[in-house]
Amino acid sequence: MAALHDKFGRAITDLRISVTDRCNYKCVYCRTGNEGALYGDLPFSDYLRMARVLVGMGITKVRLTGGEPLLRNGVVDFVRGLAQVESREPLDIALTTNGHLLADLAQPLKDAGLSRVTVSMDAVDPDRFTRITRVPGGFDHVLAGIRAAKRAGLGPVKVNGVLLRGFNEGQIIPFGMFAREEGVVLRFIEFMPLEEDRTWSPSTVVTLDEILARMAEYLPLVEIPRGASETARRYRFEDGIGEIGIIAPVSHPFCGHCSRIRITSDGKIRTCLFSVWDHDLHAQMRRGASDEELAEFIRGVVQKKEERHHIGEADFVHASRTMVHIGG
Ligand code: SAM
Repeated sequence: MAALHDKFGRAITDLRISVTDRCNYKCVYCRTGNEGALYGDLPFSDYLRMARVLVGMGITKVRLTGGEPLLRNGVVDFVRGLAQVESREPLDIALTTNGHLLADLAQPLKDAGLSRVTVSMDAVDPDRFTRITRVPGGFDHVLAGIRAAKRAGLGPVKVNGVLLRGFNEGQIIPFGMFAREEGVVLRFIEFMPLEEDRTWSPSTVVTLDEILARMAEYLPLVEIPRGASETARRYRFEDGIGEIGIIAPVSHPFCGHCSRIRITSDGKIRTCLFSVWDHDLHAQMRRGASDEELAEFIRGVVQKKEERHHIGEADFVHASRTMVHIGG
């Protein structure tokens, strides 16, 4: 099958599959605090078939996400199934998790074929962490999860932090210290308007420039050259110990290099986080489409991939789903 390109010439090589839109955390910048999933999820065998077709079309990286992917029983077997998908080059299988359940699952996931893990953690101070996640006692679980992932060889373990003005921007330097002490790669992500509560405004975003300036007060940083499709701008501390990265979709958009496509937990394709509609791949499967027909459908959908997002512009329209129901 021919490799996937959109109409702007971008190669689509990176697939994210949300395996549930349930989450055991209620992070203030993401969820309202309500329980439960809005859209539900599918049997793993359905995601596996979708992944198999997409890998045949040139996908080289698959990231599992959610909701919280580790809430689903059978996720280890799903990773094993993905690792057995025939692909031209070894498939890079990654996972984004809040880490709460990772300590016991890190080694089984590694054994099943997971390559890497990213753990979301928005504060290195336990009290502040609880204020953000709204789940008491989570911090120790997450720290144990990060350490277990390192021991299992799921590295380099990345830690994602979203900074919210007035909430946790005081954590920038403590995060830098944490990255150095724990030997993890830090990734700050600028807050995007994808939250359920609609609290986003440009002034809530702690930008790349601010993060760099603050971190440089702690220790000098040296920029690391990055590949064209890498979303993070990367820096190492001048003494060589520790790396941080900043993913800056708001202040420094990178849509021109976007290589991503997403499948939601209910089997819809999203071509952009900020899409205002989905494309129902699972409906094609339900009506009995062959793999070739699924590939044809996917090729048509990819042609509709948006050129860029419009965050902060007068014509910005909210996405049709929020982050937890897309799969970040
Ligand atoms: N539950 C998993 C986790 O916590 O990593 C996976 C899903 S979560 C939606 C994926 C990532 O999206 C997390 O790193 C989270 O911080 C990030 N995220 C959620 N809402 C966001 C927003 N409005 N702007 C930027 N990042 C966001």
